[in-house]
Amino acid sequence: MGELLLVIDEGTTSTRAMVFDPSGRCLGSEAADLTQHYPGPGLVEHDAAEIWERSVACTRTMVARSGGADAIAAIGITNQRETVVFWDKLTGEPLAPAIVWQDRRSAALCRSLREAGEEPALQARTGLRLDPYFSGTKIAWAMEHWPQLREAGARLAIGTVESWLVWKLTANEGRAGLHITDATNASRTLLMGLGSGGWNDSLLGMFSAPREALPEIVDCAGRFGTTTLFGGEIPICGLAGDQQAATIGQACLARGDTKGTFGTGAFVLTNAGTTPPSSKHRLLATVLWQLNGRRTYAIEGSVFVAGSLIQWLRDSIGLIGTAPETEAIARSVPDSGGVYLVPALSGLGAPWWEPEARAALSGMTFATTRAHIVRAALEAMAHQSHDLKTAFAADGADWARLRIDGGMVTNDWIAQDLADILALPVDRPAFAETTALGAAMLAGLGSGIFTTLEEASGMRGACTTFEPGLGADLREARLAGWKRAVEQVLV
Ligand code: ADP
Repeated sequence: MGELLLVIDEGTTSTRAMVFDPSGRCLGSEAADLTQHYPGPGLVEHDAAEIWERSVACTRTMVARSGGADAIAAIGITNQRETVVFWDKLTGEPLAPAIVWQDRRSAALCRSLREAGEEPALQARTGLRLDPYFSGTKIAWAMEHWPQLREAGARLAIGTVESWLVWKLTANEGRAGLHITDATNASRTLLMGLGSGGWNDSLLGMFSAPREALPEIVDCAGRFGTTTLFGGEIPICGLAGDQQAATIGQACLARGDTKGTFGTGAFVLTNAGTTPPSSKHRLLATVLWQLNGRRTYAIEGSVFVAGSLIQWLRDSIGLIGTAPETEAIARSVPDSGGVYLVPALSGLGAPWWEPEARAALSGMTFATTRAHIVRAALEAMAHQSHDLKTAFAADGADWARLRIDGGMVTNDWIAQDLADILALPVDRPAFAETTALGAAMLAGLGSGIFTTLEEASGMRGACTTFEPGLGADLREARLAGWKRAVEQVLV
């Protein structure tokens, strides 16, 4: 038995297989795009069969490149969260399209439950909000509108994407697969009690989710099952949703440790310890990991528009040619010249929570140039992160430093500006694929290569630290200007 760790990193737009050695070195990866289906306004679907076929093809390639199944100690899986798959336990084939996390088809159901006053109790139980984002409302919609799911009766299986992949990896020659989900993914469904870690019957009733169709909730690390699809036995030993895996991959193992992933949007998670947190500022409470049946929790908040602002400036406005050139443009001026860009292109998130807010560019004069506007766009990342920090602190989760990753923070100017405006040291790991790394750590732990998560976190490697350097006056002036700019867009 080898000691390599193979990760299946199943994302929204692509799926990948990556191989690590126990020191954290990435030995290679293979990726394939996933087809996005948009059958109507607000509807986003994936073909679960395609997710499986492309994930298994990438995995097969990486097993072969690693020297065969014997070289692999364990598989870890991390996945796009909240997306739901429906399949037939007898045939192992999907019964319906997978409903993707971005899909808004259950908005009316959420509205009616909110109007019925259900949200506070749901939030207290699950840590989540009544939003189409979460799996439970998607399951309720599907059970009502897709008769084949009801007709399948006891053959119906429901699960998030890691659950689907584990079933397919472990099903063999007509034998049913293993039907499990890990506690991080289960905590995104609206069906699991955050404190109990089990499916809650009244929540299952509220969202018409048949208990016998749901997977068993398990830890994030352990020997869950074995796949024989790659020419030998490989155990599946690590499971976690993508943001939780990234938080683990950033070694946020102590209470208060915080990571921010700055991709298309930005996701911030703070380790909240072993007592279920409860947010008064509309942040989410979620499971960060479960090991030996014991849960560690996180508070989670997101900025809706991060890298997508840069894409918008490039593709819709034509102000820039490429995302990386924003760094030199921002450095070409000493400041934004009083310009603020509030990127409320799809409403404003924490702590404002104004879905109807619209973006605004303000503070311009004849002296304003393209560089000032681009700089204002980049500055908006630190400003929005500061707003999130305020909400987290009000919920008792103040940040001492911030660990960053994602496509945007390859931009050194943004990383430094985050440190300056948050007035915190900001750490950026040399190896940016923290999501896959977190799943590799869990697989290493579950297979016995490591005995503790602390030991596994040695896979993380070196970081660059950006120290805060902006004077308090300048910082206060920027934050005051941002606050005024935000107030102008609040309706
Ligand atoms: P996702 O995982 O959400 O697809 P990534 O982590 O790959 O996103 O990050 C891609 C995003 O980062 C894009 O929206 C892009 O505009 C932005 N981005 C990439 N490079 C830079 C850069 N050098 N400066 C600013 N933004 C960047």
